[in-house]
Amino acid sequence: MTNTEKVFTFIDTYAESTEILYLEAVVDVCNKWLVEGGPSLTESVTKEEIRRGIQLALLKGMKQNAQPNHQMTPDTIGMLVGHIANKLLSGKENPSLLDPTVGTGNLLYTVMNMLEINAAAHAVEIDELLVRISAVIAEILEHHVTFLVQDALRPLLIDPVDMVVSDLPVGFYPDDDNGTNYELMPLEGHAYAHHLFIEQSLKHTKPGGYGLFVVPANLFESEQAKQLHPFLKKQSIIRAVIQLPSSLFKSKLHEKSLLILQKPYPEMVATPEVLLAKVPDMTDKNAMAYFLQEIDDWVKQEN
Ligand code: SAM
Repeated sequence: MTNTEKVFTFIDTYAESTEILYLEAVVDVCNKWLVEGGPSLTESVTKEEIRRGIQLALLKGMKQNAQPNHQMTPDTIGMLVGHIANKLLSGKENPSLLDPTVGTGNLLYTVMNMLEINAAAHAVEIDELLVRISAVIAEILEHHVTFLVQDALRPLLIDPVDMVVSDLPVGFYPDDDNGTNYELMPLEGHAYAHHLFIEQSLKHTKPGGYGLFVVPANLFESEQAKQLHPFLKKQSIIRAVIQLPSSLFKSKLHEKSLLILQKPYPEMVATPEVLLAKVPDMTDKNAMAYFLQEIDDWVKQEN
């Protein structure tokens, strides 16, 4: 068995032997792992192998009690975000990260596993079970992460970070009272949660720092886009909009892009051009290698 299979089997065997909710059992067995020891893995085991094994168990657990708004960020997206994050943060000493919608932590840990430097992160999530899941995984992976269980659109006791990464929840934000604290609150009706998350994230980004957001592909075409666009032009530098392959999503409505923003900084001389790109078919190795090379060249030239 591979290390990943051993991790999955260790968790799954326990979870299937208990009466409790599968995801609750994942938390229990991961806590036992920390205290009593886990599966016997090879010495050369990597954090990625462990993350993937736990992820398989989470996917199984999520199928049993599917919550459409809590979907884990798939690895295909996480690895692209991780690749770009690693390039943008290269040369930074101990960078700080924030994921305000951390969920299971799959996106955040995929990114942290790909960084060639040690980073520390803050994570926020409104769902208490998901926080317990992501917190125990952070401990197993030995990532330095602090957690807040709260509505991340309420004030956050978190200092500005070097990079925000977030797979944004899409839809209306129901708390209109709190929404009025945001420039992106429309005059009528509810605000889009994903718009408010971008505004909140920029507040918590250092000058020169970045925001990498998984957003709906129609972000700039929606009804409230006319407010979002001027806001982004004023408060951020739009660095890139990268369209993700349609094959990753079940319908056109669910398609996503990766939006890369930078917080303006005093030494900035000119506004760089926006990179508009499209990720090729991810199974096409040559096309993918060419695309990543283009991204690396862009990072080198523009940063
Ligand atoms: N990246 C995550 C992962 O890999 O598991 C998945 C993120 S999922 C698309 C969006 C997450 O945002 C969900 O876990 C949801 O519970 C959380 N969320 C939604 N509204 C929130 C809020 N107001 N404050 C904090 N978290 C929120």
